[in-house]
Amino acid sequence: RKVLRELIELMRKDLFIHSVTPPSEISPNTDPTVFHKRYLKMLRVLGEGHFGKVTLYLYDPNNDGKGEKVAVKSLKQENDKVSDGWMKEIEILKSLYHSNIVKYKGCCTELAGQVVQLIMEYLPLGSLKDYLPKRNLGMAHCLMFAQQICQGMNYLHSKRYVHRDLAARNVLVENDSLVKIGDFGLTKYIPEGEIYYRVREDGDSPVFWYAIECLKESKFSFSSDIWSFGVTLYEILTRCDRRQSPPDKFFEMMKEAQGQMTVVILIKLLDQGLRLPCPKDCPHEVKILMEQCWSADPSKRPDFEFLIKKFQALRQ
Ligand code: ADP
Ligand code: MG
Repeated sequence: RKVLRELIELMRKDLFIHSVTPPSEISPNTDPTVFHKRYLKMLRVLGEGHFGKVTLYLYDPNNDGKGEKVAVKSLKQENDKVSDGWMKEIEILKSLYHSNIVKYKGCCTELAGQVVQLIMEYLPLGSLKDYLPKRNLGMAHCLMFAQQICQGMNYLHSKRYVHRDLAARNVLVENDSLVKIGDFGLTKYIPEGEIYYRVREDGDSPVFWYAIECLKESKFSFSSDIWSFGVTLYEILTRCDRRQSPPDKFFEMMKEAQGQMTVVILIKLLDQGLRLPCPKDCPHEVKILMEQCWSADPSKRPDFEFLIKKFQALRQ
């Protein structure tokens, strides 16, 4: 009977601990980057790309509805090959701190590490692709966003990363005066002393944002990000109007040449010097910058430092 009484007493204490003290408060030095699945309440899907799916959750450990909104990215399909790249994407974002780069918050791990979700800050206005068509942004505003993208990219390049997927769909909007680069799914590290990264895998590549040497030789460099920035700038200046999207415009130009692979025709077209058209209200100086970003010779393209100065001057 004594044993039974002790057991009941123990159970009571145990219950007491569980009901009053949330596990997050038992240890004073809990890791704030560890997110527990049971406290994540799904709100809505934010967006989907080729590999990932991003969902808005409320992280509410106190279960009082006062938690924090977070964006959670997970892989669409889990398989070993992607998982390797997926863990790299998480590691890269974790190592980046800049006001124009989306902030890493932590991870949510399940099934002994077999499933990992990336937790980042939630940017309420979505991507530039969601945001721009709904507003009527003036030119100065567009150039401010362009400069902020350059600032984030300049930082990324200073850490020797090439983004490889710079596009309006991958730029997120915090509020009317702040944008941040998101999606580091294709980002690669360029070792000191080397100038490009050669990619093997292909298939679902954003070819209409790719520089000519990426299409021809799969060579990705800091200068090929500049080309993609030029395309992103074009998207901003067309306010992400669907009818003027880079794929639509290139397909229009490609109409005559049919029967070949898209990439083959695209290369021919670019080799002939054809480029995306100048957006309607684009100032002459910006048109020149865009064309410089699309120089066939990568060494003739500007770098982000130069572009930041240019945008600064243009916005005065
Ligand atoms: P993928 O690697 O599959 O392209 P992304 O990281 O680009 O995935 O996210 C897909 C979409 O989800 C984005 O284009 C954007 O619309 C939305 N999104 C991504 N991250 C956030 C965030 N932190 N806040 C709000 N929306 C986001
Ligand atoms: Mg994306």
